[in-house]
Amino acid sequence: MLAVLLSSAVVLDSDDRVLSSSAAAREFGLVQNDRLVVGELLALARQVRREGMPREGEIDIMTSRFGGRATSFAVRVAPLGPAVGDGGLILVLAEDQTESRRVDEVRRDFVANISHELKTPVGALALLAETVEEAADDPDAVLRFAGRMRQEASRLTDLVQDLIMLSRIQAAEPVPDPRTVQLDAVVAEAIDRCRMRASARGIVLEVAGERGICILGDEDLLVTALRNLLENAIAYSPDKTRVEVTTQAADSWMAEVSVTDQGIGIPERDRERIFERFYRVDPARSRATGGTGLGLAIVKHVTAAHGGNVTVWSKEGRGSTFTLRLPLRPRRSYSVSGSDHAQARGAREAVR
Ligand code: ADP
Repeated sequence: MLAVLLSSAVVLDSDDRVLSSSAAAREFGLVQNDRLVVGELLALARQVRREGMPREGEIDIMTSRFGGRATSFAVRVAPLGPAVGDGGLILVLAEDQTESRRVDEVRRDFVANISHELKTPVGALALLAETVEEAADDPDAVLRFAGRMRQEASRLTDLVQDLIMLSRIQAAEPVPDPRTVQLDAVVAEAIDRCRMRASARGIVLEVAGERGICILGDEDLLVTALRNLLENAIAYSPDKTRVEVTTQAADSWMAEVSVTDQGIGIPERDRERIFERFYRVDPARSRATGGTGLGLAIVKHVTAAHGGNVTVWSKEGRGSTFTLRLPLRPRRSYSVSGSDHAQARGAREAVR
């Protein structure tokens, strides 16, 4: 039983000798040479042996695993079997809290970020409404401010839509009902939705590469991901430049879809972080182009939900290339079935 436990587990005999321990307990350095080396855990085990009652608590332990850094463990200690008193065996379970704390922190940060992001357009709307009231007898001003109110309202709508999209994808990892998707159709649809935006700025959208590539997935999600990349390529490029979408089979497992622009590029120090929710290299520029700061987070989750990943190449002042790598639909079968899905999963595991 201990061998399959992911948490740190130790069984002590009546002389405090370790009879058995899980791999995690040894890796954390809680057990050395058949001894439980953490004084607090040992004291707790002795108390439980004396009282015959289980106990639990939270203990900070200096573990060898993180270079002697204190790690917080949720600990449960219980007598094993019917023997109560000095002769009984004791089970010590210790659960590393680092990951669950990190998740809590990320969740707290996210809520704080959302509140901040919502506050900005809502605050602007309130101010604009006040200004409209004051300018009631100046029709030109009313029109101007009403236009700005519409802008802020649409910013708010974009933000809420992106938030809904993000939570929808996170709930659907991996894609629950994958179907055959033609990459050509995804590219055509995404380009169609960005055409106006591009032509307004004199930016040419081009398609290149192999055609006829099929993957298994959710077409709407893939169009959203590619559209986000295209919108960024347009937003962060000067007028009259070129944005190119290329599709190709990278090998016999993976398809690649790249979006290349001739834009401002992304400084190296920011490249790791741009996929985080609400991270922007230049907040003012993102705001000016109507960005929600969630576009690339959505791209990352969509590709992960398909068993793929997204990478970026960039050079400041020259441009950027974002590449989606997605598992190809298995070639053997041409019908979409449960076994197709299983094969795709197999392919994904092999690629990982
Ligand atoms: P936003 O809504 O701000 O565009 P994203 O999540 O889509 O949010 O992107 C995060 C940040 O990454 C952007 O604010 C921008 O600074 C940077 N970025 C994304 N795509 C590009 C690109 N093609 N060229 C330059 N910078 C980019």
